Amino acid sequence: MSKKTALFDPKKFLNLYGLDELERLRLERNPFWNRIRFETTWQLPVMAEITDHSNIELVPMRLATREELGLFHDPSYIETIELFGNQGTAFASRFGLDTESCPVFPQMDQYSNYLVGSAIDAVMGVASGKYRNAFSFFGGLHHALESKAGGFCYYNDCVIAIKKYREEYPNKRVLYLDTDVHHGDGTQHAFYDDPNVMTISVHELSMGFYPGTGRVEEIGSGDGEGYNVNIPLPPLTDDHEYWRVFEDAIVPLWLAFTPDFVFWDVGADAHMLDPLADLMLTNDTYNRMSKTVRQLVELSDGKLAVVGGGGYNPVSTAKIWTMVLADIAKVPLPSTLPAEWIRLCQDFDLEIKRGGWTDRPFRTEEETFVNIRRAVTDSVSNVQNLLFPIHGIEK
Ligand SMILES: [Zn+2]
Repeated sequence: MSKKTALFDPKKFLNLYGLDELERLRLERNPFWNRIRFETTWQLPVMAEITDHSNIELVPMRLATREELGLFHDPSYIETIELFGNQGTAFASRFGLDTESCPVFPQMDQYSNYLVGSAIDAVMGVASGKYRNAFSFFGGLHHALESKAGGFCYYNDCVIAIKKYREEYPNKRVLYLDTDVHHGDGTQHAFYDDPNVMTISVHELSMGFYPGTGRVEEIGSGDGEGYNVNIPLPPLTDDHEYWRVFEDAIVPLWLAFTPDFVFWDVGADAHMLDPLADLMLTNDTYNRMSKTVRQLVELSDGKLAVVGGGGYNPVSTAKIWTMVLADIAKVPLPSTLPAEWIRLCQDFDLEIKRGGWTDRPFRTEEETFVNIRRAVTDSVSNVQNLLFPIHGIEK
C-alpha cells in the first residue's frame, strides 16, 4: 500500500491562456476563474516546500475523455461546452452559460475538463492502492447538473469521479462530504435515489443566498431515502456552533453508514474572511475538521480523496488547502508563511494579516449568538429526528 498523497500538478492548467482572455473580456474579475486565485493557492504549498516532501507525489492533471464526461453529463451539453470553448454558440441560456458566474471564455472546456480528469485519477488511484489519499486543489464543482452550468461550475468532477468508482466497485459505498459554504445541489441531484452514495452537505442557507436549496427535509427518494443529508446554517455561525454540528450530526451518520470511500469537498468559503458568504469559521475549524476526517477514514481502513471547492479570499483559501494537504500527507507545516509567498500576495495586492497559519479567535457577540444557537440547534435536531431513525442511530 502506497504511503503517498497524490497532489494534482496544475502546470498544464495554468499554462492555458483562456483566463487572461476572460480578464480582458470582463470588467469584473470572476471570483473563481481567475489567475490570482489559482496562483496564490498553488504557490503556497510549493513555496512552503511541502510539495517537495517524499510523502507527496505530484501527478500531472489530465483531460477526461468524452466517455468519462458522459458518466453524468448529456452529450449535447458536452458538445456545447466544447464548442463554446472555441467560438461560442446560440444556446447559452439553455445550458446556464454566459452568465455572471459561468462566463464563456476561451478554453473553458479544457479548464473544466482538467478538473474532471484529476478527480477521476484521484479517486481511482486511491481506490486501487496506488496512493494513500489524494487532493485536487481546484476541483469540487458541485453545482453543475447533467446539462446545466451554475455557480462557477461547468462539469461536476465530484459526481463523475464517484460514478466512475461505483462503476468499477459496485459493492462499495461512498460518503460525499461537502463542507463548502454553498449547498452541493448538483451532487445531491445526481445521487438523490442512491443508497450507496450518502451525500452530506453543511452550508449557509439564508435569503437570496446561492443556490437556495439544501433544506433538512430534502432527504433523498426511493431507495435513497435517508441517504441525502442537508444541514443548513444561519449567517454568522462561528467555530463553536459549527463544531457542534460536526459532532452531533455528521459523525454519527458517518459511523452508521460505514463508507468504503470518502470524497470530501472542503470549500474554503465558510471562512470568516470569505467575500461571498457569511459564516465565521476560522482556520481552527478547518484544521480540526481535517484531522477528524482523516482519523475517521484511518480508523475504518477507508479511503479518502479531497477537492478544494470554493474559497474566494485567496489568502485564507491557500492556507486552508495547504493545511489540509499537510495533514492528510503527514508533512509538517513550517511555523511561518514563506516570505516569498507573502511577497507574491503583496504583488497581487492581497492583504496578509498574520504571518502564521492561524486566525485571531472569533466569537459571535452574545446577543446574536442566542439566535444563531437556536437556529443551529433546530437544524441538528431536525437531522437527528428525520434521519437518525432510518439508520438506527440513538440520539
Ligand atoms: Zn462554495
